[in-house]
Amino acid sequence: MDLSGNWSEENKDIWDLTKKILKQDLESQIFSTYIGCLELVNVDIACKTISIKAPSSFVCKLLTSQYKNKLSDAFEKTLGAPVDLNIFAEEALGAVDEAKIKKPRYVVVKRPNQTNSVKLKTKPVSLNHKYTFDTFVVGNNSQFGHAAAVQIAENPGKSYNPLFLYGGVGLGKTHLLHSIGNYALEKNPGINVHYVSSEVFTNELIDSLRTSKMSQFKEKYRKIDLLLIDDIQFLARKERTQEEFFHTFNSLYSSKRQIVITSDTMPLEIPGIAERLKTRFAWGLTADLQAPDFETRVAILKRKAFEEEIKIDDKIIHLIADCISSNVRELEGALTRIVVLSKLRKTCISLELARDSLREILRPKQLTPTVRDVTCAVSDHFGVRPTDLSSKRRTRKISFPRQIAMYLCRKHTTCSYSDIGADFGGRDHSSVIHAARVVSKKLKEDDNVANILNKIERDLLSQ
Ligand code: ADP
Ligand code: MG
Repeated sequence: MDLSGNWSEENKDIWDLTKKILKQDLESQIFSTYIGCLELVNVDIACKTISIKAPSSFVCKLLTSQYKNKLSDAFEKTLGAPVDLNIFAEEALGAVDEAKIKKPRYVVVKRPNQTNSVKLKTKPVSLNHKYTFDTFVVGNNSQFGHAAAVQIAENPGKSYNPLFLYGGVGLGKTHLLHSIGNYALEKNPGINVHYVSSEVFTNELIDSLRTSKMSQFKEKYRKIDLLLIDDIQFLARKERTQEEFFHTFNSLYSSKRQIVITSDTMPLEIPGIAERLKTRFAWGLTADLQAPDFETRVAILKRKAFEEEIKIDDKIIHLIADCISSNVRELEGALTRIVVLSKLRKTCISLELARDSLREILRPKQLTPTVRDVTCAVSDHFGVRPTDLSSKRRTRKISFPRQIAMYLCRKHTTCSYSDIGADFGGRDHSSVIHAARVVSKKLKEDDNVANILNKIERDLLSQ
């Protein structure tokens, strides 16, 4: 990637775009508390190293132990290549000029034992205003969940309780949860709405236990009118938190306050959650969110492009919608990545640029066939069994397809000659080299062989 040009501006672009990706990937509270305060200090493209400064050793440790992979992945998406991440703490630099330190968005409390601890600044209403019903594109996949959410938002506590929304990653559960809160507040500004992820709920509980502030914790949660709790599956095996949530649930439920819960599976199937909680989750209405169909994916991308003022051709929108089918977050991520690439390359968003960008996302997951894919495609074509290809049989009916399969494995997978040999009945690398040579030679001399290979490759790569 050409990164010559104005250095600091490039760095700013890289950082801004990486943060955009992280924002989609991380919970909003985590993002604003731990990512907003970081500073990108160096991008060394030659050594593939990126240095990031954290404002305290606590944040540095937390990021290194819990979020380093996410940060590295985000940089990789921005730059199109893996990087080494070096996170260091401002304090580690020794004496620093106070005036130059950007004030972090959290309070650092020094404990007597010298370790630092961070206190989350929790606002009374923790809603993301971008997630509203207006910005949610309704498709067949989400019609029911959306309708239930609207009904709950219009009359919290008066219809189904709890509302339980479930579905795979990136399908809009969190978006709908915030939408319910935003809408309910708009209609009735006096209502006490609280959005919390199970992770934050757990942390708050632990903190309250540690500081003997359980009565405040209970009081806070029991006077909520509309509790929106996200990703309840993360309470798995946290018995103490589950117990406290059980009491919170009962208290809210009996006083007809609305509870909305999201999870990745249906209530009775969440592993590691107490039976009494699971049955309660299923008391009200359960609605699922499915993966969007092609038309809905196109509509979501168009909506996103409109919101972000991105000028993009329909053909490119269709290409993205074709390539990414199971996750709205990835769909949005792909669009962001195309915009990133066009900014970095300083070119407009063309079909070619979109293909380049998508290829980098898709190749590791979908476009690289495995040895198994190759053996299946070859055995399908020749009408033999995949196990025949790894057998010791040497009849031409088997040995020719086997040679073709070895040749294709070498060409399309990342396996070495020895790996391929091992997968084909424990043959050694020289048999694979020999097979690959034979096929290459035949390919040049015999049109039939070229046609066979073409056909198998088409099947293989279109999977
Ligand atoms: P989940 O909580 O199910 O993992 P999110 O609600 O975080 O998924 O959604 C991931 C991203 O996709 C968010 O940016 C969200 O705004 C967007 N999104 C999901 N579904 C839709 C939809 N139907 N319309 C518009 N945006 C959507
Ligand atoms: Mg979510």
